[in-house]
Amino acid sequence: MNKIINAIGLLLVLGAGTGEVRADAPMPWLDAKRPPDERARLAVAAMSLDEKLSLLHGPMPLPFLKSAPVPSEAIAGAGYVPGVPRLKIPALFETDASLGVTNPGGSRPQDVATAMPAGLALASTFDPSLAYRAGALIGREAHAKGFNVLLGGGVNLARDPRNGRNFEYLGEDPYLAGVLAGQAIRGTQDQHVVSTVKHFALNDNETNRRSLDAQIDRNALRESDLLAFELAIETGHPGSVMCSYNLLNGTHACANSWLLDEVLKRDWKYPGWVMSDWGAVYGAEDAVHGLDQQSGEQIDKEVWFGEPLKRAVADGHIPLSRIDDMARRILRSRFAVGTIEDPPRKVTIDYGLGDGEALEVARRGVVLLKNDGVLPLAKNLGRIAVIGGQSQFGVLSGAGSSQVTPSNGEVLKIPVGGEGIMGAFRTQYFFPSSPLKQLTARLPNAKVHFDSGYFPGEAAALASRVDVAIVFVTRHELEGFDIPSLTLPQGQDELIRAVAKANPNTVVVLETGNPVAMPWLSSVKAVLAAWYPGQEGGRAIAEILSGEVNPSGRLPITFPVDVAQIIRPALPNLMADPEANVSLRYEEGADVGYRWYQRHGVKPAFAFGHGLSYTSFAYSNLKVMGGKTLTLSFDVSNTGDRDGADVPQAYLTRAGDESTYRLIGFERVELKHGDRTHVVLKADPRLLGHFDEKERHWTVTAGTYQVELAHEAGDGSLQASATIKGSTLAL
Ligand code: BGC
Repeated sequence: MNKIINAIGLLLVLGAGTGEVRADAPMPWLDAKRPPDERARLAVAAMSLDEKLSLLHGPMPLPFLKSAPVPSEAIAGAGYVPGVPRLKIPALFETDASLGVTNPGGSRPQDVATAMPAGLALASTFDPSLAYRAGALIGREAHAKGFNVLLGGGVNLARDPRNGRNFEYLGEDPYLAGVLAGQAIRGTQDQHVVSTVKHFALNDNETNRRSLDAQIDRNALRESDLLAFELAIETGHPGSVMCSYNLLNGTHACANSWLLDEVLKRDWKYPGWVMSDWGAVYGAEDAVHGLDQQSGEQIDKEVWFGEPLKRAVADGHIPLSRIDDMARRILRSRFAVGTIEDPPRKVTIDYGLGDGEALEVARRGVVLLKNDGVLPLAKNLGRIAVIGGQSQFGVLSGAGSSQVTPSNGEVLKIPVGGEGIMGAFRTQYFFPSSPLKQLTARLPNAKVHFDSGYFPGEAAALASRVDVAIVFVTRHELEGFDIPSLTLPQGQDELIRAVAKANPNTVVVLETGNPVAMPWLSSVKAVLAAWYPGQEGGRAIAEILSGEVNPSGRLPITFPVDVAQIIRPALPNLMADPEANVSLRYEEGADVGYRWYQRHGVKPAFAFGHGLSYTSFAYSNLKVMGGKTLTLSFDVSNTGDRDGADVPQAYLTRAGDESTYRLIGFERVELKHGDRTHVVLKADPRLLGHFDEKERHWTVTAGTYQVELAHEAGDGSLQASATIKGSTLAL
């Protein structure tokens, strides 16, 4: 009956065959009580072909980029796709990204936003609820600036510790990254802003990213990078997926039927839309391989999803039903997320809230790697030297499309320069949260001296006269480029060596977007990995150094001793022409990061999951139950004399006959000193098994499964085993 009424309603809405809607006609797709699929179907049925096509492509509306004239309603930012005003469907207003709302090239004069810490800092918190809060904060600011799509949700795995975009992502483990990305997406979409998950898939190196053929075994991909996406999608239900620049096993990701049609839309039953990365479309026929929308259309050779797509429909190359499907997917996500009922509105933003959230992520995301007793800084220190890293001014951030202009003051900009489309992004942005000032305020009894670190000899001279020397070192990393090695640039290793020689109590604070080789490690007393710590970073670092905050971050990425330890010591394709077609075979398959180190018996400088605290934690009473999956229960005690937070980690070490190493569970627990808590972790059965590409299912083989409860990968504190019943898990 309902269907008949709908059909009659539609006939009333449509002028016969003209696609016209009477001004007073009912618009059933605007009825929020109907399911999003039905609303999308109704809306598409009311559209002309041109209207449907208009939803499928749009420009990057930036004044400094060449493009066709952009309607005045567009907001300068990453993307704009017109709506269908006749049907009361507003446009898409798209902004980057995961670390805050960006303002590319300052094209919205004076507009700022909360600049959150790097994705690696968020991942170091191992805290899904904080990821939700971070996503919600950015979504709220996007909404208040007029945007209804956030291009956040970067979840590529850190296969190479030199990938220039690792700082945006969530580390090397698919379970950790997938869960955190999913929560961030949920947080954003709860603000009625569509979130994206990107870059689908295997865009795990930036070198020649648009012409790189990333090759990998399909089963291994399902168990690693694709698993991160699968978990993020299940958890967060992002309205859209952004396909990546690279080729995957010989075919561009945005034209890859296996990836888009088979894995994403068929196997995962993904109901949303696939948008291209900016400049990643090569023809109208990409539409038949699963791509639904061409983004940043003027960056491609042609607006493929405009006239060429229309011609392909007219001459029968692309069925009209596919165009309907593309439009329906876009609208379906918009209805599901509520972007039409609660359209974005420009309102004043209370950045105080953002300061608080940025600070909290930094507090929990800074990782104390080494501490030979010098931290927290003693209250009675007489003289301290703070050296280098522009610490008199602020903290470094990563660059590229995720670069945010912070809300808390003037940025120190140091242009680096460089060629190509991304060259313009090669400017170091230091956010005004000065570690020097913050430390000085927290250590009223000490005299805090500063040296720029430009001359190691001068810095060493100062260091020799103080009780503790703290050296800040930075490495600027950015989208579009991998870093060629793990070394610190601009003689900073020399600086640390000179200072450490002059003062045995040397502390190093790293502000980088990846692991760092530390040839001076044994000569310093403490090392802090602060990543790019966001606009409140200087304060968080000072709070941790001074002991006001107890560090609780854990590494989401392994720190090798140096490049010789990693699977591909020489950066692949470094010497290639930037436009050349190149390939990279990810031989390690699903053994990403710590799994590869474990498999090959390589002992890194700092393992995945590593992170120190000013208190200590002990685990006891480990019990493991088997059956269809593993359920672990255990106690965590804070055995030190300070309150703190710990992240117990469960690793699978043996699955029947197979020796393995996989994170299958974790939980961040806050514990007062002397307290104990009980933790129960239940593993997602996919983490116990393997994917079978031929059969298209996961198999978990029967047998004895061994797990390790650990403080970090490989420490093997407590072990237990249980019997697993064999099963296959349907998709
Ligand atoms: C990046 C995307 C980004 C887009 C729009 C691309 O170059 O790879 O992550 O969302 O630009 O700025």
